[in-house]
Amino acid sequence: MNEESHLEAVRRAVRDILSELPPHVTLVAAAKMRTAEELLAACEAGIHAIGHNYVQDAEAMRAVLGGRARWHFIGHLQKNKSKKAAQLFDMIETLDSFELASRLDKECALIGKVLPILIEINSGCESAKAGVMPEDAEPLALRLATLEHLRLQGLMTMGPFTENPEEARPFFRVTKDAFDRLACAAIPNVEMRFLSMGMSNTYKVAIEEGANIVRIGTKLFGARPSQNKLNIGNAG
Ligand SMILES: *Cc1c(COP(=O)(O)O)cnc(C)c1O
Repeated sequence: MNEESHLEAVRRAVRDILSELPPHVTLVAAAKMRTAEELLAACEAGIHAIGHNYVQDAEAMRAVLGGRARWHFIGHLQKNKSKKAAQLFDMIETLDSFELASRLDKECALIGKVLPILIEINSGCESAKAGVMPEDAEPLALRLATLEHLRLQGLMTMGPFTENPEEARPFFRVTKDAFDRLACAAIPNVEMRFLSMGMSNTYKVAIEEGANIVRIGTKLFGARPSQNKLNIGNAG
C-alpha cells in the first residue's frame, strides 16, 4: 500500500471506530512505533487524545502535532524521565508507585501544573506485570490524595494478553470493582471519572464492563512494524 492510501485507511478506521463508540467513551490513539504523519491523519479524522509509551518519541511527535490532541502517557515510566513526562503529558495513565508519584508531584510543583493521573491495576495479578494489585489501589489512592500537584481521576488496566476478547472480561470486571470501591470511598482530592481499559481486540468487551477510555493502535494503523514478521498480511 502506498503512503497516501495508507493514511486514507487510517482516517477511515478512525471514523469507523468513532462512529460506533458510545458518546461517553474517549478513543486514545496508541502511538508507539507510528509516525507523526499517521497520527496527524488520525487527528484529522477526529482523534483528540494520543497515548504514548515512550517519553522521547512523544516529545518528537508532540513537536509536530502540538495542541491538536491531549497527550496520555500509557507506558512504563522510568523515574529519571519524570521531569520530561511532567512537562509533556496531560495525563499519566500508568501510575503504580508512590515513589514515582512523589517525583512527578515535585516536577509539577516546579512548573505550576496539576497533572491528572490514573492508577494502573495489575488485573491479572501477574507478578511480572506492571501495576498495583487490585486490593492495593485504595491504600495507594489515600497517599496520592495528599500530593497537591497530582489529581487521581481513575484507573487503567492492560490485563493479560488474550486472543479471545471474552477471556479479558474477568480482568476488566476486577478493575471496575476496584474503581467502584474507590468511588464509594469518596476520598477528598480524588475524583473517580475515568476507567481506561480495552485495546484493538478487546475494547468492545471493555466498554460493556464500564470503560470510558479505550486505547487503540493496531485497529487504526495496522500491525506494528515489529509485528509484521509475525503477522504477514495482517497490516491492513
Ligand atoms: C500498544 C498499546 C495499546 C494498543 O494496542 P493495540 O493492540 O495495538 O490496539 C493499548 N494500551 C497500551 C498500554 C499499549 O501499550
